[in-house]
Amino acid sequence: QKPTVIITGASSGLGLYSTKALVDREWHVVMACRDVSKAGNAARSLNIPQDSYTVMQIDLGDLNSVRDFSRKFTGSGKLLGALVCNAAIYMPLLKEPLRSPEGYELTMTTNHLSHFLLCNLMLEQLKKSPLKDKRLVILGTVTHNPDEPGGKVYPRPDLGKLEGFEAGFKDPISMVDGKKFEPVKAYKDSKVCNILTMLELHRRYHESTGITFTSLYPGCVADTLLFRNHYRLFQKLFPLFQKYITKGYVSQELAGERVARIVVEPEFKQSGAYWSWGNRNSQNRKAFLQKVSPQARDDDKARSMWEASAKLVGIE
Ligand code: NDP
Repeated sequence: QKPTVIITGASSGLGLYSTKALVDREWHVVMACRDVSKAGNAARSLNIPQDSYTVMQIDLGDLNSVRDFSRKFTGSGKLLGALVCNAAIYMPLLKEPLRSPEGYELTMTTNHLSHFLLCNLMLEQLKKSPLKDKRLVILGTVTHNPDEPGGKVYPRPDLGKLEGFEAGFKDPISMVDGKKFEPVKAYKDSKVCNILTMLELHRRYHESTGITFTSLYPGCVADTLLFRNHYRLFQKLFPLFQKYITKGYVSQELAGERVARIVVEPEFKQSGAYWSWGNRNSQNRKAFLQKVSPQARDDDKARSMWEASAKLVGIE
């Protein structure tokens, strides 16, 4: 049996191209997607052989759907080798927060809380798996880090003292720091939580389980559907700006290859690592270990974020 990798949000962008790149490396991919028929069509559009992937339904905007997914996957008998937490939403033009069935703000639920729950549930499956090299990868981004040129744009992420999480994160609360709703900041905050989760997983479980926990910034993949909720003009100009001005543009195909390398190559078997190819890109750039933002490398914050998230998703 081939090793299986679960990739969330594999119906487009990085998730789809990582699926292709991992199938090319002889892995079986579970495409964990909210829209099953879209995911199947997407896989066919890249000519991914039908027997090399399984589409399984998950809606990361709903914690119960994450639990259902986990039960179904556990019953499937697949040989789990890796989990890639990739799906995300970015909704910069929202005026009011959207909410999950539990009442939690939707960007934070989709990008962080659901993945936090999924990581905890799948950890058990990874522990049981007889494979030697097991990895859990969470997508990061440069915008989490104001120390980097790409992270200097306002609003900047700030988890505060997690006041919003501590207060239960339900209406009227919509931000992790309990402040006024700001959809761009909600996305960046969620990506800080993604990195804190990876580092806390590493601290808690790497030694005892041998699992490799990593994150990466794959480069600016400016033409994915991540920007679908932005102004049309932005969607047109942003890729051009990244291609010709910042030179930070990375194709979806190359970004997918980068994710796949983090999942399988011995070079990236270093737990607690955050990998980057820098801000200026070309096909031949080499990966390097990058320092994450001061907030994301704050151990105390990681611990309190972990405890607050565990309460919110009900796995205390
Ligand atoms: P896309 O919008 O192309 O892909 C996002 C995926 O997430 C889609 O498959 C989407 O499904 C899925 N998704 C969204 N909401 C849910 C949900 N509720 N349940 C299940 N799946 C859901 O974006 P990208 O490929 O650009 O982004 C992928 C990751 O890469 C994100 O974590 C992002 O933060 C990160 N990243 C992206 C960069 C970029 O420049 N694009 C740069 C750095 C990091 P559906 O097809 O149904 O909408």
